Amino acid sequence: MKNIIKAACCFFLCSSAFSNEYLVLLNNEKTFKKDFPKASMESLGLKNLNVYKVGSKEAGFLSRLRKSNSILKAEIDSDLYTSIIEDEKNLNENLDADPLFSKQWHLENTGWNSRTTVIVPGVKGEDIKAKKAWEIETGNSDMIIAVIDSGADLNHPDLKDNLWINQAEKNGVKGVDDDNNGYIDDVYGYDFINDDHDPTDDNGHGSHCAGVIGAVHENQGIKGVMKNVRLMPLKFIAANGIGQMSAVLKAIDYAIENGAQILSNSWGGAPKESILVDLLTVASEKGISIVAAAGNSRNDSDRFPIYPAAYEIPGVVSVGATMGRGTKATFSNFGKVSVDVFAPGNNIYSTFQKGRYKTMSGTSMAAPIVAGMIGLAKSLNPNLSHKELKEIVIESSDRLPILDNLAVGGRVNAYKMLQAIQ
Ligand code: CA
Repeated sequence: MKNIIKAACCFFLCSSAFSNEYLVLLNNEKTFKKDFPKASMESLGLKNLNVYKVGSKEAGFLSRLRKSNSILKAEIDSDLYTSIIEDEKNLNENLDADPLFSKQWHLENTGWNSRTTVIVPGVKGEDIKAKKAWEIETGNSDMIIAVIDSGADLNHPDLKDNLWINQAEKNGVKGVDDDNNGYIDDVYGYDFINDDHDPTDDNGHGSHCAGVIGAVHENQGIKGVMKNVRLMPLKFIAANGIGQMSAVLKAIDYAIENGAQILSNSWGGAPKESILVDLLTVASEKGISIVAAAGNSRNDSDRFPIYPAAYEIPGVVSVGATMGRGTKATFSNFGKVSVDVFAPGNNIYSTFQKGRYKTMSGTSMAAPIVAGMIGLAKSLNPNLSHKELKEIVIESSDRLPILDNLAVGGRVNAYKMLQAIQ
């Protein structure tokens, strides 16, 4: 299979080193303004951290910022990338909308539905044991999962009924911030790129991840890992698959403030020392689980970490990708210490923009599988600590010898995970 690695390469190649825009976590706003009178400043408006976007064309500005006592952290407003790969076959979109569960090998692997070539089938049963898991738990409609991505197709028949709805805004007055959360008319989430209330997906990636977590059951098309869930699409990735750090900080802050219990993050490229660490730490301390794609650079993440997946924050679960025979997907990163578990991530069939369905591959697809599983786990027992939950996800995973030493655990098993919690 010829894989044309797109976004994953950008993790290392595309740097916004020549940007004139910086993000600063302020210690003292007054002295900061005094120290940098010429810089343009705009608050990100976060509720949990005091972060400003600062513009300056001055040479050496970042190091001058970092020396200032009035700030805690400063960084470039960097580019972030979706953790998807595209192979040639995937470029053919499938417009078919018949009952398509049979294509979802990650939920029920028949062997033939997970084949990677015409003649070599996958391994029957090499899946997350979704059907048996649903006999124990299918989720609940108070479980809000923020899909921090390119938004979602809000009218997709397979997503629509599982979208989070901000009732105060839905029943409120148009043009008014009815719930006083700082965002006007945010009925289904928010678009942090264009600063408007419509998180409709321009890329397809966010719709795909949303469907993996929570496509509606028993209507048409496919099934999500969760039958009952509220998907909160928070858009920060543009049509080209790239998003800005400043936008993702706003999205995560919104998720924290508006009731998300899980953040699904199918993207990477953040710096190690970033304001993102501070914000995700706040989320983690509030009990929010943070699932992140391990990235598609084929690398050992212990040596070449991808963030946010490799951040050492208690709430973070890092996910690599497997294929239909249970082997590590060729593109997937691995890491004995920094990757927690593997989940299916190759040729995953899910919802796409404009009411369509599509096969996509990447740790981007593996991460929402685990986000959905954690949604099931938290529905069954909302009182699990991050440590307990992570241990259960890891310990209940299937330890395939072929995955030995490639992650802390093996390939996730939703049924065994729920059995361990029961
Ligand atoms: Ca509002």
